[in-house]
Amino acid sequence: MSLLIENVTLVTHENVFENKWLLIEEDRISSVGQMPDVPVADKTIDGGGKYLLPGAFEIHIHGANGVDAMDADENFIEKISSHLPTTGTTSFLATTMTGTFENIRSSIENLSDYNYSAGAEMLGIHQEGPFISTKHPGAQDPKYILPPDADDIRTMQELSNHQIRLITYAPEEDPGHEFLSALNDLNIIPSAGHTDATYEQLGKAYRHGLRHITHLYNGMRGLHHREPGVVGYSYLGDAYVEIIADGVHSKPEMVRLAYDNITSSRMIMITDAMRAQGLPDGEYDLGGQNVHVNGNEARLESGALAGSVLTMEQAVKNMFEFTDCGWTDIVKMTSYNALKSLDMLACRGLLEAGYPADLVMYDKDKELTMTIVRGEVYYENH
Ligand SMILES: [Zn+2]
Repeated sequence: MSLLIENVTLVTHENVFENKWLLIEEDRISSVGQMPDVPVADKTIDGGGKYLLPGAFEIHIHGANGVDAMDADENFIEKISSHLPTTGTTSFLATTMTGTFENIRSSIENLSDYNYSAGAEMLGIHQEGPFISTKHPGAQDPKYILPPDADDIRTMQELSNHQIRLITYAPEEDPGHEFLSALNDLNIIPSAGHTDATYEQLGKAYRHGLRHITHLYNGMRGLHHREPGVVGYSYLGDAYVEIIADGVHSKPEMVRLAYDNITSSRMIMITDAMRAQGLPDGEYDLGGQNVHVNGNEARLESGALAGSVLTMEQAVKNMFEFTDCGWTDIVKMTSYNALKSLDMLACRGLLEAGYPADLVMYDKDKELTMTIVRGEVYYENH
């Protein structure tokens, strides 16, 4: 089975190419070329000049469509994977959160025997907590926060069948960097989040292997003119920086300030979505805590933000609105940077022959009009 998408504007992390076609054979991109010389295919889609780009790879998503990674529910993958293509996401890291060791263990074990079947693909696990700071718990239950322990993370990585690719932790709780060294050995990317680390502590941790900052502005030491903190380090350092561009977790102006300082070369767009993404307003559970979802906000009883209901498609729209980014910047922030950091670019994320056909199409109004995963159309909206 071959599928030709003709008359499209291809967007890569480097450039925008007009009047192109892209041919998919089975689940992979087989060739790319210039209109009007198109190859023969079993099926042809006219892209009408719309933008075709690599599907989003989301590294921080707890749940959607009624399920949460912490449920340890056998239907988790099916529910989230069938839903995410409708939001422009074609692959993701299932994200756990702070809970009892038992709770985290069953969640991780539930994902450990993952095999791709359909929809968005899980590329591993992002473990958020429990090794974070009690000073910045956000919606992580402070009861279960633990000091970083190298043996604990070795055990968890074993239980996950080596699926943990990223961890959010508080570097200041690991002053000797033993935990950080264990992460490097286990091939887990360290991300500073829910942290009270100083600018200096982060610089030291970076020299020992720290590589990401988790959801900029939320759950961290803020910017102070005598202590730049995690925010200052995000602006000035070399780490990749996650941002939740919903206009709720931080004001649009703060997203712009981040974008202008960090640029698309280091920013990674995330949703941090919880189970209500794609569902109506109401009451939902997040790690055993009750959450009220109203419009684009999800909050605990206390009023604290509890994840989001943001979709990647909406995040893309917001980035265009909040900043002066272009389509190549969107590709970097939704896919390329995260794949590069996780060392996965050799096998996915590029619009080149041999790469998996994981693609999204957006129109000039930034509306998602099509999502293709492994060569199959999972979402269409004309
Ligand atoms: Zn999160």
